[in-house]
Amino acid sequence: MSEEGEMIDLMVETVRRFVDKELIPNEQRLESEDGIPAEIQARMAELGLFGMALPAAYGGLGLSLFDEVRIVFELCRASPVYRSLIGTTNGVGGKSLVFGGTEEQKQRYLPPIARGDMIVSFCLTEADAGSDAASLRSSAVKVKGGYQLNGTKRFISNAPEAGLFVVMARTDASQPGAAGISAFLVEADQAGLSIGPNINKMGQKGAHTADVTFQDCLVPDGALLGGEEGTGFKIAMKVLDDGRIHMAAVATGLARRLIDEALAYAKERHQFGKPIAGFQLIQAMLADSETEHLAARSMVERTAARRDSGAPITKDASCCKYFATEALSRIADRAVQVHGGYGYVAEYAVERLYRDSRLLRIFEGTSQIQQLVIAREMIAGGN
Ligand SMILES: Cc1cc2nc3c(=O)[nH]c(=O)nc-3n(C[C@H](O)[C@H](O)[C@H](O)COP(=O)(O)OP(=O)(O)OC[C@H]3O[C@@H](n4cnc5c(N)ncnc54)[C@H](O)[C@@H]3O)c2cc1C
Repeated sequence: MSEEGEMIDLMVETVRRFVDKELIPNEQRLESEDGIPAEIQARMAELGLFGMALPAAYGGLGLSLFDEVRIVFELCRASPVYRSLIGTTNGVGGKSLVFGGTEEQKQRYLPPIARGDMIVSFCLTEADAGSDAASLRSSAVKVKGGYQLNGTKRFISNAPEAGLFVVMARTDASQPGAAGISAFLVEADQAGLSIGPNINKMGQKGAHTADVTFQDCLVPDGALLGGEEGTGFKIAMKVLDDGRIHMAAVATGLARRLIDEALAYAKERHQFGKPIAGFQLIQAMLADSETEHLAARSMVERTAARRDSGAPITKDASCCKYFATEALSRIADRAVQVHGGYGYVAEYAVERLYRDSRLLRIFEGTSQIQQLVIAREMIAGGN
């Protein structure tokens, strides 16, 4: 095995131990302390998790997507709240800079992001522009020396923690769709930027989501991502291709945890004089979940490897996100069922993970939007 291969195997093993020894035992604290404890965040930074997908030249680990998903499979056996903090630095936030930033922008922001010193939020969604993101109405009007931003972004992950916001806004009001949209890098302390209260969610407590408002927020010319107007939406879509594979890996890791919880419980819980794992109807639920997990994992690994080889993967990335997140919901539901009444009470992890997992079918493109992308690519004869 190559030196690099050995290094990745070691990192996967380190993350596995970190998950079992530190992340899973501290899951209850995420909810009670409404956030990730500082010492765990520090340890995540030490392991390089904030910059694992960012280029080594800017302080990241420079992992391929294939290696990234291997880490994510392990990391996401723990509550997805941990992943949510590094999700935007490696994903939609950090990769916007990698794919679309100027050299100066990369030099300025990527090193602190990779170190975990600067959290990034990605601001695309608005109250009236969700799945139809290209209809967004936030505006960026050219003024002397920069742009003036106005508008409110909805459901922004990590907004209270963020040091940097990647903001999609319309620079050309005469262009109603994607072509009129540009991306901006807005620092958290910029006058005119304000963050709303934390939105109370069904699950993933401890991961923060809030509205972000820009009111006559003046940013310099250098804040325009890539220095070119009209490219913002294209960058966002490219970033989301990788993001969908990453999210499918998150679902696959979480599915593994739920199956492990269900299997352990089925072996230990006795009814009718024997462990419930001995009943074939319980075995069917376990077997269906294991099969769907293997299918999801195989799809994600294959698509990540194809993406690393430069193949077009838009359709397959959507297939992965669609299948893995829908399978996760079925697996979470079975895990609760295997636990019977205990699956419905908060003392058991599956109750919390069931709620946490529901989000994955909604954000970064709903399942319906994935279906539309898959069919669109098929009809157009794409990858
Ligand atoms: C916790 C959380 C965190 C989030 N984080 C971020 C973030 O960091 N940054 C960000 O920009 N956004 C973020 N989002 C927003 C998220 O991406 C959107 O909620 C999602 O894209 C769906 O948009 P919507 O909620 O407006 O639903 P809608 O678009 O209003 O959809 C409602 C329903 O209609 C369906 N639908 C819509 N259009 C079609 C169609 N053409 N055909 C068939 N069905 C359709 C949808 O699938 C869905 O079932 C987050 C959301 C949540 C809940």
